[in-house]
Amino acid sequence: MLGTITHVSTQDAVVGLTFDDGPHPEFTPRLLEILDRHQVRATFFMVGKVAQRHLELVRQVAQAGHAIGNHSWDHPSFPLITRRERYAQLRACAQAIAPYGQRLFRPPYGHQSVASRFDALVLGYQVVTWNVVAQDWLDRDANWIVNRVKERIRPGSIVLFHDALCDLEAEQYIDRGPMLAAVDMLLERLGDRFRFVTIPELLRHGCPQKRNWYRRGNVEWLDALIDQTRPSRS
Ligand SMILES: [Zn+2]
Repeated sequence: MLGTITHVSTQDAVVGLTFDDGPHPEFTPRLLEILDRHQVRATFFMVGKVAQRHLELVRQVAQAGHAIGNHSWDHPSFPLITRRERYAQLRACAQAIAPYGQRLFRPPYGHQSVASRFDALVLGYQVVTWNVVAQDWLDRDANWIVNRVKERIRPGSIVLFHDALCDLEAEQYIDRGPMLAAVDMLLERLGDRFRFVTIPELLRHGCPQKRNWYRRGNVEWLDALIDQTRPSRS
């Protein structure tokens, strides 16, 4: 089946935390410090264009033992671009995160068509989405995020966070502080119940659960999402 991995079926108390859209020169180092303090390994789905500007940070993430996956070159909705563009997106990102990147792809916005799923397969990628969403792009505080994730997390879960929000206009400032505080609290509270591991390690703990994950890009929806994430205090 040409499925998309959403989580893993396992008896082991392991969970994969994933961080999309980075690296970010301010927030990724702060996140690395938190993960390190809790001795946790995670997976970073990086945007190639950003990674290329922060190669030292890419290296730091890899050397800390985290996994790095492909989140495209500049975060377009894959069903909305051509096959040729999709290949270019995947290859350019792979080049930016080399030699650390693994053949794991997370589609921007979680958007995927049968054709775009097939293209990832042709280039040798496993497509990994999630089954727990932290919704950390909304204007929420850390407690809200922690409670939301705590209610949903199970052995084998793959959790979606963002260490940056690449979709915002230019360098518009968006505070990732609540996300960082939430991750810290979550690891504090769940650290003795779960072991947090990279996606490649999570996949070794059980049977990957795959879904026919097809979601179309929708321009109005994207605009609304971007509006939502604009700081209200502008
Ligand atoms: Zn993204």
